[in-house]
Amino acid sequence: MATKEEIEQKEQELSALYMQLEKINSELTKEEKELIEKLSSTGATAIRSSLGSLQDVTAWKANQEAFKNVEEYVYNNTEVFVESGKAGIENRIRNGNYPQKFLNKGLLVDCYGRKMHQLAAKRITMMNKAWVRENPEETNFTLSSGIRPIGELRWRKLLTVSGDTFKMRSKSSNQVTRHPSTNVLEAKKRGERSIKKLFDLRLIDKYGSITEGRKWVSWNSPHESGLAFDLYYKTTTLLGEKVKVHPDSTTSNKQANTKLINWMKSNAHRWGIYPYKKEVWHWEVQLTRKAWYTGEDFVTNGNYDVYIKERSTETGRFTNNINWVGRAFK
Ligand SMILES: [Zn+2]
Repeated sequence: MATKEEIEQKEQELSALYMQLEKINSELTKEEKELIEKLSSTGATAIRSSLGSLQDVTAWKANQEAFKNVEEYVYNNTEVFVESGKAGIENRIRNGNYPQKFLNKGLLVDCYGRKMHQLAAKRITMMNKAWVRENPEETNFTLSSGIRPIGELRWRKLLTVSGDTFKMRSKSSNQVTRHPSTNVLEAKKRGERSIKKLFDLRLIDKYGSITEGRKWVSWNSPHESGLAFDLYYKTTTLLGEKVKVHPDSTTSNKQANTKLINWMKSNAHRWGIYPYKKEVWHWEVQLTRKAWYTGEDFVTNGNYDVYIKERSTETGRFTNNINWVGRAFK
């Protein structure tokens, strides 16, 4: 058994490694990224999964900033309505409903190269099997993203030199250039240490305003729960055009026109999986709060074709209410 000190030491080493990786990753040129893509599929998968699992490890670290005043995860203060599954509608995961600091890391399992909550992984696996069974000419999809670290960890680089600049791609020449992050730099000179404040200032530096920046990057993410995932699948559109289903808003329309996405729109609810319409590659698994916290499945009769509504007996608000983005559910 490792002692507490040994674990802390390992965690520190991992964080340092993670920051180093982040830096390397952010400095890759377009050509280098393409080269990685071109590597044999096993090689590329290995690189992707080693990056992914390192992120997973840091994601487990308890967070002291977000939800720091919330001491305890209570799940017996809700009414749960299990309705039958519905095709093509959202049932959003809100990060304040599943704060990562309360996630039991023992419940995270590998799911096609990414870590997910075990009850979500179980449903994704069942869906993937059905996808191939019902479409024999197709193959399994994998995930390009699973659980993701909270904002404080993802943006910790803003405290280091790599936060002093940001990259911008010119629309006309497609060239990437670095720009000084003026507001971030000035705030750091004044001694600002809040990563959230620096994050907001970076939005102003890069996108002109916080409102505009929020359209492109997020501080709170449903991925923090281990219940949201992004697909990765090389395929063709219904018109036969080659396309990759993955997080890339420039090819959204083409991705929406693939067999996989069309099939998921009509079938994902069979495993309680629901879309985020703005990002066709992003899907979410709805669990009850109790199931997320304890890891015990709320489905006991084998019928996963459900749409969960869960309402707080204290506030009357449902768990999928937008109010619970960045705010603890009560
Ligand atoms: Zn996503």
